Amino acid sequence: MELPFAESYKIKMVETIRKSSRAEREQWMKDANYNLFNLKSDYVFIDLLTDSGTGAMSDKQWAAMMEGDESYAGARSFFNLKESISNITGFPYFLPTHQGRAAENVLFSALIKAGDILPGNSHFDTTKGHIEFRKAHAIDCTIDEAKDTTIELPFKGNMDLGKLEDVLKKYPKEKIPCIVLTITNNTAGGQPVSMENIKGVSLLAKKYGIKLLVDSARFAENAYFIKTREKGYDKKSIREICLEMFGYADFMTMSAKKDAIVNMGGFIAFRHEEDWRNCQMYTIMYEGFITYGGMSGRDMNALAQGLREGTDFEYLETRIGQIAYLGKKLDEYGIPYQRPAGGHAIFLDAKKILVNVPKEELIAQTLGIELYLEGGIRGVEIGTLLADRDPETRENRYPALELLRLAIPRRVYTNNHMDFIAAAVKNVYDRRDSITRGYIIKKELPIMRHFTVELEPAK
Ligand SMILES: *Cc1c(COP(=O)(O)O)cnc(C)c1O
Repeated sequence: MELPFAESYKIKMVETIRKSSRAEREQWMKDANYNLFNLKSDYVFIDLLTDSGTGAMSDKQWAAMMEGDESYAGARSFFNLKESISNITGFPYFLPTHQGRAAENVLFSALIKAGDILPGNSHFDTTKGHIEFRKAHAIDCTIDEAKDTTIELPFKGNMDLGKLEDVLKKYPKEKIPCIVLTITNNTAGGQPVSMENIKGVSLLAKKYGIKLLVDSARFAENAYFIKTREKGYDKKSIREICLEMFGYADFMTMSAKKDAIVNMGGFIAFRHEEDWRNCQMYTIMYEGFITYGGMSGRDMNALAQGLREGTDFEYLETRIGQIAYLGKKLDEYGIPYQRPAGGHAIFLDAKKILVNVPKEELIAQTLGIELYLEGGIRGVEIGTLLADRDPETRENRYPALELLRLAIPRRVYTNNHMDFIAAAVKNVYDRRDSITRGYIIKKELPIMRHFTVELEPAK
């Protein structure tokens, strides 16, 4: 008999979570103005809001924290992290930052001016925010297939090289500070980018003399998909694949709260000394001295160890296997989601589930509220709220897809929790015909409104 799937770790410490009643959840949701970000975590049973900073650190990471060197300059922890980063990515230079968007802030301060163009494959929301805040433009060049949730493709996060080249041809090179390649493609459903595609993007970048930035929050999960899905990579180690991926790039930004399995942290890594030097001033202004950049020594130590663990094949097999397990359960119930199951999350196709809710009433957000009311499960809207308004016309931008993302924290929940989630989704799905109205906006901020928006039921 073939031995079944089992986790590549065992549990040493636990944290109690509590169920609540539907009546309690209804009150809490109302008090939170129907924004899931406004809920106290104590009111949530299974928290799938994000996989960012929500992972469980290992015994080795906690041990590393005790050995953190808190010196202001030149700390041992900084050099420990530098070694870990250069071993795994091959980049010789780096600057720590307190998280991923801080890395974007520092790098883009040095790189972007008003009117610039940054093509990419579905820029992440903070990335787009940092670009548009500087009056520059993010142009999405993701393959069209990513917008059809029913198509099964091994690398559905890929950049469309034709679309990319059109952008590179259309604008003078001085207007394009870099191409942004996000691995895995979070916005398109945690979908990976193939090595062939990374290589293709890099060739175009070189042809037009433009730099390539890899937004790397989930680079290790991307490497796992390359190893298990792309021809010629099954014998390569995750580490070899990572070195090859980054070998095509000029710099990377990293939200270490994802694949480096820490609760807070990030960095920028660079191939060229000049780029590293250009960013130092902004690091000092926004984050801290260049050998700590917003991180404690102990946190840099935990991050150095987390990078090693996050690029371990057996860990990644457990991790991605759990998402696939949840996907299979949803398949049994016939529930539509972005196929195939992604690296860090399942993205429910809200338009196909709540067919009666009009797009002006926030379809994916409505599904998120229903799932919370059903089982105390908190997902996150990847739809109209997240898409923000057009910076010029101020009209709502209705995206092609309305998704409810169920992001699975790393090493936190068991497969019993996955069964619970699937059952709650099924219950909402079974009563989908009776859900006909959604929510409207009461209050919002001009940029990245989804975090703080206040809603009320549509009448
Ligand atoms: C999370 C994330 C970021 C931003 O990182 P934070 O640590 O949340 O600031 C940037 N890009 C991608 C692809 C991400 O997933």
